[in-house]
Amino acid sequence: MKVYIADEAGFCFGVKRALNLIARLNEKNQNVQIFGQLIHNRTVLKNLEKKGIGYIESLEELDPGKKLVIRTHGIPKDVESELRKQNIDILDATCPFVKKIHRIVEKIDGKKIRVVIVGDGNHPEVIAAKSYAPGADVINSVAEAEKIKKSKTIGVVAQTTLNSDFFKKIVPVLLDNAEKIEIHNTICHATRIRQKAIKKLAPQVDFVIVVGGKRSSNTRKLFEIALEKNPNTFLIEKSSDLYNLDFIDRVSFFKSVGITAGASTPPDEIEKIKGFFNNLENIEKEIKNGRTKRNFQH
Ligand code: SF4
Repeated sequence: MKVYIADEAGFCFGVKRALNLIARLNEKNQNVQIFGQLIHNRTVLKNLEKKGIGYIESLEELDPGKKLVIRTHGIPKDVESELRKQNIDILDATCPFVKKIHRIVEKIDGKKIRVVIVGDGNHPEVIAAKSYAPGADVINSVAEAEKIKKSKTIGVVAQTTLNSDFFKKIVPVLLDNAEKIEIHNTICHATRIRQKAIKKLAPQVDFVIVVGGKRSSNTRKLFEIALEKNPNTFLIEKSSDLYNLDFIDRVSFFKSVGITAGASTPPDEIEKIKGFFNNLENIEKEIKNGRTKRNFQH
């Protein structure tokens, strides 16, 4: 089988930066805890836990003796103020592209302009962004965009991992409800180039594998985009998910596979997937002979 990796896939700038910051603290033997899941990838989180770096979900769980790393998605403004008030030793690993959204919405809100955030209202990044403009409307569909109150001016931003095409669909709808629109395309560069790469690759291959965390927003967007271009698109969380005879039966007659990965997927996972398909015939035989039974138990 021919195996193609999308031109851009896997770890992005913000994730690499956060992991490097933590690695440096670890080298100095600092006791570290993370506010929220650093990134949405279970393998990475498990590896951090093995090093004694766990995460907390609320201020109540805080261990004041440990350095607190703020996750890439950021935290709400009032939570950060509370941490500073308590003199907690903080290392802010919020991605700079996420921070940029905080500054933009705060500025627009300060001008008394209606703020609209396009994204998933339950995602930590959007929850944190909204805290910088508490009156902001969060929308995630064309129907919700149509319901935005008529305003003289609307300032609109996007969740960093939003589907670019979806953002382009939403903006004209908002324009129906405003005389003027201030558009801030805050979809990050890493997201844009990963989406562009899979859009190009997906129609050229027989099937597509998208790998990434179940809670990873950018992975879900890559899956949606790939699926639009190629109905034979599969979403997996990790390479070991591939060791499944039903799946192998569905894809073994294909001649080519395209692989992409969410921004929080480590490079070795992509390599393992590539290795799996390069060796598919043997793996299939081994599984049928029961020799790789262990892999089914992952
Ligand atoms: S996906 Fe974009 S915004 Fe999110 S961490 Fe990576 S670079 Fe930053």
